[in-house]
Amino acid sequence: QLPSSTDIAIIGAGPSGSVAAALLRQRGWQVCVLERQHFPRFSIGESLLPYCMEILKEAGLLQAVNEGDFQVKNGAAFTWGDRESVIDFRDKFTAGPGTTYQVERARFDHILIQEAERKGAQVWFGHTVNAITTAAEHATLSVSTDQDESYTLRARFVLDASGYGRVLPRLLDLEQPSDFPVREAWFTHIQDNISDPDFDREKIIIATHPQDRAIWMWLIPFSHGRCSIGVVGEPSHLAMNEREPLPFLQDMVNAIPRLRHLLANAQWDTPVRPLRGYSANVTSLYGERYALLGNAAEFLDPVFSSGVTIAMHSAKLATALVDKTLRGQAADWQKDFADALRVGIDTFRTYVAGWYNCSFQDVIYSKHINQDIRRMIAAILAGYAWDTSNPYVEKSERRLKALAEICGEAQLDT
Ligand code: FAD
Repeated sequence: QLPSSTDIAIIGAGPSGSVAAALLRQRGWQVCVLERQHFPRFSIGESLLPYCMEILKEAGLLQAVNEGDFQVKNGAAFTWGDRESVIDFRDKFTAGPGTTYQVERARFDHILIQEAERKGAQVWFGHTVNAITTAAEHATLSVSTDQDESYTLRARFVLDASGYGRVLPRLLDLEQPSDFPVREAWFTHIQDNISDPDFDREKIIIATHPQDRAIWMWLIPFSHGRCSIGVVGEPSHLAMNEREPLPFLQDMVNAIPRLRHLLANAQWDTPVRPLRGYSANVTSLYGERYALLGNAAEFLDPVFSSGVTIAMHSAKLATALVDKTLRGQAADWQKDFADALRVGIDTFRTYVAGWYNCSFQDVIYSKHINQDIRRMIAAILAGYAWDTSNPYVEKSERRLKALAEICGEAQLDT
């Protein structure tokens, strides 16, 4: 029987939707998740950050993830020409987990939503949300199913976790362009056949293109000998033009010495996919009887693997306020959701902007950062971007600028 009313309707069963569903079930609310696709389904966003392990634990989802046989991750190895810089998340300023996983999202997202369902969330796959009306006490969603049925669902609160679907931003005219230029990514999965004994599968590789520092590639090792590989840049820099995606991506790999060496025997067995113009913003993160989670609200850039962590943190903050709102208690959505979430988003924004204007690349590839500062940077890259006791969170732009100048001068001296 199709649902007609619920306490909370969640649009989308990605990480933000599943974490929100699990946290709301813990508080005893009736939860209905509407997901357009059928799981398992492919999604990009495969490298997690250690901070999200804390949220998974809080939501009661960690054990299922730990049992998922995913590749452990403890850091990131940056490479540019003959330079290499390793950030180890276990040696960081902020307390908390120092390791996480590199995950095939089809399997990871399926595990999360199955766990949320086991905790009592009603989950409907093949159900697409097409419209919303909001009123003082409730919102009504118009839903169609892939069995050609249509129905309305009345909810006391709606959480939009629809990712790139951006359902409520589109329907409620909340969309706002990102500050970042349009970039695109081309990516695939491979059988990596990496035989180099020095290769550390517990770290993702982020590789700067030797000739064009605005282009970078990721290599994310999974368990069982497979990897995700992708390239990111502005279309005019990538200059892919009308080329076939596979040879284009292989040429990019071959331009980067470390990747060319590691992937010499790789088996390219999966089609290459593109994603363009993914960075997005909104005019407001919440409104009457609704709030936006994860990518449905804002997405910055893939370079520091912050997307899933921000998505989960948004679910954590919003569910605490939904609970208050539905209990009739005072809930300060601006302060405790929008402003609180922005702290970490703005921290990542500083470092993403610094990556592309090269100031942060200068820092990362410098041999001259002292150990304390390295630990502060490691904490942010491990996802602890809301820890305002970290000076590189609190005054991120000013600190990064000063640090980049020091690294630049030190490089000139040597
Ligand atoms: P999603 O995971 O996108 O889930 C949204 C769900 O909503 C989908 O299942 C969709 O089917 C459903 N939906 C959409 N519309 C509707 C509708 N109308 N009705 C019902 N359901 C609907 N992040 C990382 O953390 N690490 C990375 O390494 C990383 N790499 C990335 C690489 C690239 C190239 C890009 C573009 C992004 C990357 N990200 C990464 C970001 C990551 O993909 C997202 O931040 C993350 O998936 C957001 O999760 P979510 O729960 O908000 O949405």
